[in-house]
Amino acid sequence: MDKRIGITTTVPIEVIYAAGYIPVDLNNIFIRNSEPNVLIEEAEFAGFPRPFCAWIKGIYSAIKISGIKKIIGVTRGDCSDTSALCEILEGEGIEVITFSYPEKPDKKQMQFEIKKLCNALGATYQQAEEKKIEFDDIRKKLIEIDYSAHNDGIVNGEELFDFQINASDFCGNPSEYNNKCEKFLAEIKGRNKGSNFLRIGMVGIPAIYSDIIGVLEKLGVDVVYYQIPRQFTIPFVGENLDDSYSKYTYPYSFGYQLQDICEQVNERKLDGIIHYVQSFCHRQLYDRMLKSKIKVPVLSIEGDRPSMVDGRTMTRIEAFIETICQENDGI
Ligand code: SF4
Repeated sequence: MDKRIGITTTVPIEVIYAAGYIPVDLNNIFIRNSEPNVLIEEAEFAGFPRPFCAWIKGIYSAIKISGIKKIIGVTRGDCSDTSALCEILEGEGIEVITFSYPEKPDKKQMQFEIKKLCNALGATYQQAEEKKIEFDDIRKKLIEIDYSAHNDGIVNGEELFDFQINASDFCGNPSEYNNKCEKFLAEIKGRNKGSNFLRIGMVGIPAIYSDIIGVLEKLGVDVVYYQIPRQFTIPFVGENLDDSYSKYTYPYSFGYQLQDICEQVNERKLDGIIHYVQSFCHRQLYDRMLKSKIKVPVLSIEGDRPSMVDGRTMTRIEAFIETICQENDGI
């Protein structure tokens, strides 16, 4: 029996593992495919409109190529297009289990939703809590890796991103993932601090540009904060599942997310923020809220399909970095 369950975003994976299933983050299957643009074209061939979010099309095709037959669709707290995607998939024979984050952070409501997911997958709430205790160890290591990046400067932006983005499903093998974190933490102990001179945070969904972190590093910038990927690690060891997933900011209002972003900008002493927005995504509307609250310079960039950073975006990034340098007395 195929034990894989596709996920469209971070959900309480403790429940999935407790029920004996293996979560597979469909976003990663899409973006790591050797030809992600072909997956988008296949979704368009199947009827998805061209002016439509590339991630949704990529997720659709990722399900098709991976042969996954069961998914968890998050109908509140993720993407406004997920419900339609789930309907399409159900019509094509995929089993869809829905999960809904509460409208606002609320532990009681969260427990209700987690119990519903437990029932749907055949696990008990207690078993899911036991997994939470087991996974706390991994989450603590992820917090340490994050700290080593922004405080000690001994983890580069690519490494940090890689660990955080994979926390959504622990790559399907929590014990292997735990070992990977442990080895990495041992390896970086002897490292010297990097020599980059600016500290940038990336806000918004992960950028679809494959080389953006490398581009920034070449320009002398350390990316020491990834707002959403950091949230995927559940970066606080909550008392229990209800507590952890209520503190997880991604599913809630942007106003709620902004409190966390402002705290991190100060704590990490960021020189600027790059706000990545995806074409055809409702989250683009949050750009003005971000700019009205954040006290450091913000550059908004937009991407559509998987590609390297294009010439126009590159010029804008270079100008942004130059402006920050001048503001910081011409570093
Ligand atoms: S980028 Fe926006 S539209 Fe696309 S899947 Fe994510 S939330 Fe949905």
